[in-house]
Amino acid sequence: MNRSIVILGAGFGGLACAREISRRAGKEACKVTVVDHARYHVFTPLLYEVATGFIEHENLGTSRLLMSGVTVGNAELTARWGVDFIEDDVEGVDWERRRVKLRRGAAMPFDTLIIALGAEVNYYGIEGMAEHAMTLKNVRDADRLRQRIHDTLHKKERGLDDKLDIVIGGGGATGVELAAELTMFLKRHMLKGHLKPEDFSISIIEATPRVLGALPKELSGYAADRLRSLGIRLDLDTCVKKVERARVTIAPRPLKPGESNDALLCDFRGESEKQVEADAIVWTGGIRGSSALEKLGLPLDSRGKRLEVGPTLEVPGKKDVFAIGDAALLMDPATKLPVPWLAQAATAHGQVVAKTVISRLAGGSDAEYRFREYPVIVPLGGKCAIAKVGGLTLKGWLGWLLKEFANLRYFLSILPLRPAIVLWWRGAKMYSQND
Ligand SMILES: Cc1cc2nc3c(=O)[nH]c(=O)nc-3n(C[C@H](O)[C@H](O)[C@H](O)COP(=O)(O)OP(=O)(O)OC[C@H]3O[C@@H](n4cnc5c(N)ncnc54)[C@H](O)[C@@H]3O)c2cc1C
Repeated sequence: MNRSIVILGAGFGGLACAREISRRAGKEACKVTVVDHARYHVFTPLLYEVATGFIEHENLGTSRLLMSGVTVGNAELTARWGVDFIEDDVEGVDWERRRVKLRRGAAMPFDTLIIALGAEVNYYGIEGMAEHAMTLKNVRDADRLRQRIHDTLHKKERGLDDKLDIVIGGGGATGVELAAELTMFLKRHMLKGHLKPEDFSISIIEATPRVLGALPKELSGYAADRLRSLGIRLDLDTCVKKVERARVTIAPRPLKPGESNDALLCDFRGESEKQVEADAIVWTGGIRGSSALEKLGLPLDSRGKRLEVGPTLEVPGKKDVFAIGDAALLMDPATKLPVPWLAQAATAHGQVVAKTVISRLAGGSDAEYRFREYPVIVPLGGKCAIAKVGGLTLKGWLGWLLKEFANLRYFLSILPLRPAIVLWWRGAKMYSQND
């Protein structure tokens, strides 16, 4: 029997699943097709480098050059594994006839469906945020952000703007790595004589008492010290209330039940709202399941808008339909917390589902996801990063070295040796120009 396996989304989860199925199954057993509206698979851990890339001689090809270190063509990847790729928008699913509805192409019949449609930015209904803030979720966002900074810098150089103020909402990994690398980028301009330290400011607005709150206090403290030493202002325990075209209204975080006033360390505790001028406002403060999931006619969890699944990742009530990666809400029974929105988790989900799909072809049993703690690496500008791998913590240059190793390891997992090394080396060389 030639089963039709359709994977929606060519991100970390979808591609890991496709690759693993093709490795485990003969072509005669199943036909695998991946659908994605993007032509390229994006390596998100390096997106901040595209947003802050410094190229000595800027020209029309600069954006494309910067993107070339984080993107690989989906068709090129899948063809190596004997998997088909269709570039189209997923518009819904006809569950009765088991067909995926596409925007341009004909409906695709499936026996097994794997939903790996990822996540998008969550604005939490903050007034003006969706209209005025920039985001860092894909290569377009990264390029837009870079263009905005360049435009403002050029205006400044022509005397049309006196200061460059960048406000980043959210002190998680994305906000922290972006702020740190942006500072390196602007320092590079200082070295060229185009900027003075008082010409720019970068601040992070974080609603909790510390940046990188998911990491142990020691590492998050190290990161905060490093950010401050780079000149980045940290507004902790502070919420973004409203965003306008060139202004952000921030306010001390309201007390949570059981907390005393001392729990808030906000610089302007006791005062009411405060307005901050900003040439660029970047929101990295939250994500939610992709809005494409809403078109599938399946129940989503009320908070993160994801598909709730158990350890086999099969969607309840839908035989041979699985949700993986950022599209899936899977609770860890030990920690009572959801599996984090991480590329590593998405990859592991994809591999588990691939095992089940192949096992079911032979009448075997299902594989289950093993809950675990994933390594975390957060770049802190230049050749400095912090990392936590199990009980081991690394800071500074060693953390950066581990990050480079992790990047190469991922490229080697999706590409043959030579193109993987070329991709990694191209990025490493190009993106280290700010350092
Ligand atoms: C800036 C940034 C930095 C990050 N850094 C790290 C890190 O260092 N380490 C880490 O582990 N994780 C990191 N992450 C998180 C990681 O990127 C995600 O957890 C991971 O991408 C989830 O994989 P996924 O396969 O579920 O979704 P994705 O990789 O997002 O893939 C989803 C795919 O679905 C496609 N899609 C969506 N809607 C449609 C539609 N309607 N039709 C067709 N296709 C559609 C998208 O184009 C996309 O290719 C980072 C994320 C960001 C944004």
